[in-house]
Amino acid sequence: MSTISVAGVDIDTRHYIGGKRVASPESYTNTSPIDGTFLGEIARGNADEVDAAVAAARAAFPAWAKLGPVKRGALLNKLADLVEENVEALANIETLDNGALLRSHLRGVMPRVAMNIRFFADYAINDLHHDVFETRGHTNNVSWDPSGVAALITPWNAPLMLATWKIGPALAAGDTVVLKPAEWTPLTASYFADLTKQAGIPDGVFNVVFGFGSEAGAALTAHPDLSRISFTGSVPTAKIIARSAADNLTPVSFELGGKSPCIIMADADLDLAAEIAVEQYDNAGQVCLSGTRLLVHESIAETFAEKFAAKAATLKQGDPRDPDTDIGPQVHRVHFDRIKGFVDRAKAEGQNIVIGGEPNTDLGGLYFRPTLVSNPTPGSEIVTSEIFGPVLCMQTFTTDDEVVAMANGTEFGLAAVVVSGDRAHAETITRQLVAGTVWVNCFFVRDLRAPFGGSKKSGIGRDGGTWSFDFYADVKNTVISPNGWKE
Ligand code: NAD
Repeated sequence: MSTISVAGVDIDTRHYIGGKRVASPESYTNTSPIDGTFLGEIARGNADEVDAAVAAARAAFPAWAKLGPVKRGALLNKLADLVEENVEALANIETLDNGALLRSHLRGVMPRVAMNIRFFADYAINDLHHDVFETRGHTNNVSWDPSGVAALITPWNAPLMLATWKIGPALAAGDTVVLKPAEWTPLTASYFADLTKQAGIPDGVFNVVFGFGSEAGAALTAHPDLSRISFTGSVPTAKIIARSAADNLTPVSFELGGKSPCIIMADADLDLAAEIAVEQYDNAGQVCLSGTRLLVHESIAETFAEKFAAKAATLKQGDPRDPDTDIGPQVHRVHFDRIKGFVDRAKAEGQNIVIGGEPNTDLGGLYFRPTLVSNPTPGSEIVTSEIFGPVLCMQTFTTDDEVVAMANGTEFGLAAVVVSGDRAHAETITRQLVAGTVWVNCFFVRDLRAPFGGSKKSGIGRDGGTWSFDFYADVKNTVISPNGWKE
């Protein structure tokens, strides 16, 4: 069957290529992480479907590029309107598919999807700087030209939200798109494809191929006819994609993992610190930016730990459709087992697990209890590896130099959180942190005009405002001589 009903909404499980639905000879099974309910059989794309999608995007490119930012912007704003009209459907579908909280999808995530599209459409019209430089009478005109076909590969933790950080600027820049969403969470991408059709986005401008990373993903990133590859996911996958992109010298943008520090200074408001620290369990810990290493000044560690434990005890774990739930299930059995593996090995090593440390047997299925490991052995995998689940560790420090060294002491550099009551002191620390985003006395606030990305192994390049267009557009300088004119 090519159409399934999810949360009362019809969803096509076939690829969306050149404005049409295209089947594959094979499919794979998609289930809900909430309770294992069967959701549907999804088209399992491979090289043939990827070739067709890239060809459709290539064919649609000249007309889309020629349309210019204003006409493209009108269509993209129509698409954003349709997302807003469909927030409830999108939120319900996403929650059933990836298990994240329905209340977050309704209030924050899906409205952000519309905002992402609108923001980049309007930015291309109003905010891109078309610099002009004069050199010895010659005029240098900087322009932002469409570049071709952008391949977008996305993860499952915030499927449509993260996809539209890429779709928005790529389409606004005049590129056409082939999206390969994560295999565990394909559904909102399909519904979104229908919305692009309704919005009047021309056939072939936006295409979706479903399937596994090692099949559809690998075929897409190896394709010779791409102008850009934008990937959000894990470091090991990024290495594979980088090798594949190298053969065609396709430019890449990578948003990767993290093991970010959350630093609690001695001068911090400890109630605020506990609140921010507990937020690191958001989305059942499946947030790339999470400050999973709580680095706490020794002088306040005991009081902070008490406040943290009290706050963590109030978190309600359960069905993500229940508005009172704070922590839902992990996305998939494979991922759940991976998280459990980290915690089981930590236990076997004798690490001190002070909160959680096991599946929630009252709920069964894929629910893992929020977990805290106190004073883990420095250098052990629980301190250095990205777990991507509700597992935090807490270490103490005594000096600024020590905490800066600890904070910067992993291969990642995605984000950092600092909680401090003293502006000058906080600034001394933030200046020394190696991270794409640093939050002070807050978490998860972001302006789309600001750069977003990772240092070290957490990424290559930056998204946001001009940085996004710097990637998706071909930036061109046209130098005009004062001589040779017949006027
Ligand atoms: P993943 O790397 O396993 O998969 C991400 C995507 O890559 C999926 O669509 C997958 O199908 C595809 N893929 C897998 N193998 C591929 C291959 N050989 N060729 C092409 N594509 C392939 O990551 P995941 O488990 O889905 O996501 C979790 C990771 O993503 C974590 O490391 C997390 O930190 C990171 N992440 C980063 C950000 C960020 O903005 N920095 C945001 C969200 C998630």
